[in-house]
Amino acid sequence: AQDRQDIYYRMHVEAARFFFKNLQNQPEIRQYLYQRGMTDHTIRTFGLGFALNSWDSLLKYLKAMNFREEDIVLCGLATKNEKGKIYDRFRNRVIFPVFDQRGRVIAFGARVMDDSKPKYLNSPETPIFHKGTNLYGLNFALKNSKEKSLIIVEGYMDCISLSQAGIKNVVASLGTALTKIQARLLKRYAEEVYISYDADNAGQMATVRGLDILREEGVSVKVVLIPKGKDPDDFVKSEGKDSFLALLDHALPLVDYKMQKAKEGLNLRSEEGRISYARKVVEILNELDPIEKDVYLQKVSEDTGIAESTLLSLMKGGTEENRPLEI
Ligand code: ATP
Ligand code: MN
Ligand code: MN
Ligand code: MN
Repeated sequence: AQDRQDIYYRMHVEAARFFFKNLQNQPEIRQYLYQRGMTDHTIRTFGLGFALNSWDSLLKYLKAMNFREEDIVLCGLATKNEKGKIYDRFRNRVIFPVFDQRGRVIAFGARVMDDSKPKYLNSPETPIFHKGTNLYGLNFALKNSKEKSLIIVEGYMDCISLSQAGIKNVVASLGTALTKIQARLLKRYAEEVYISYDADNAGQMATVRGLDILREEGVSVKVVLIPKGKDPDDFVKSEGKDSFLALLDHALPLVDYKMQKAKEGLNLRSEEGRISYARKVVEILNELDPIEKDVYLQKVSEDTGIAESTLLSLMKGGTEENRPLEI
């Protein structure tokens, strides 16, 4: 089976080379990437390419190199329709090779250059690519950054853009759902993780879910707050590297982020507001370890003017007698 795998890896490199060459030969397509702020150096570093507007250019190319049709389909580089016709999966799209930690090409992402849907098309599950077990950009982050922290973003462009701006300790979860396995990878390589998802609804929801997964895996995590409607790529392009570093500096620890979310839409100057805030916050506090409970109980009490003992009595099994920790 190992030699089968080797064939799949080789096929992906050859495909990546083919896509890369296509892009080099097509100045109009490169223009799209320049327009998005990418330099030639970045295009080369990340091995970006272009899938021709053709049904079988890659298929023909790989077959001419003696790769078998069934392997090409198994690797998701071509698709077989109901009639048995085989054609290239990626057509007329900008190509983002996906690397593993060791820098081997294991999959591709492909973006349209206009507003058509789907915006991105990715490789399916294959013998060498399992979505959710990989972090895009980890190979570059490990090679180019000495930081003890990693920043996790949603997309290819976020990762590439931050890296081009000089922020190298960045990886992408590709899509919004962070998995347990990705959380473990982050933990292995970083003492602290900054979650920097898009400032839109999907990104916010993914942030909350991602936080819980990271917490369950014991990762120390902070949330980067980006202005509404933007993603890290938009932000670093319009505001620059130092502004993004400032966002990192002001990133909220997990619990503070949750408490801030609990405050949203509430008026803490009104009694109703303080009461609903206290109720929501009690749920958050219930999840904490005893030391954290103690620290945040004090904070919430200051915020709401509700006595710590009262808050405590609202908490899981919480009475003054079995208070989790006395300092
Ligand atoms: P761009 O800046 O090029 O518009 P983006 O990264 O901001 O791209 P988002 O819509 O925020 O795009 O999506 C984040 C990531 O989620 C993408 O980079 C891609 O990896 C993945 N993704 C987005 N849309 C799809 C899709 N339709 N199918 C599969 N994956 C997708
Ligand atoms: Mn998004
Ligand atoms: Mn985005
Ligand atoms: Mn974007």
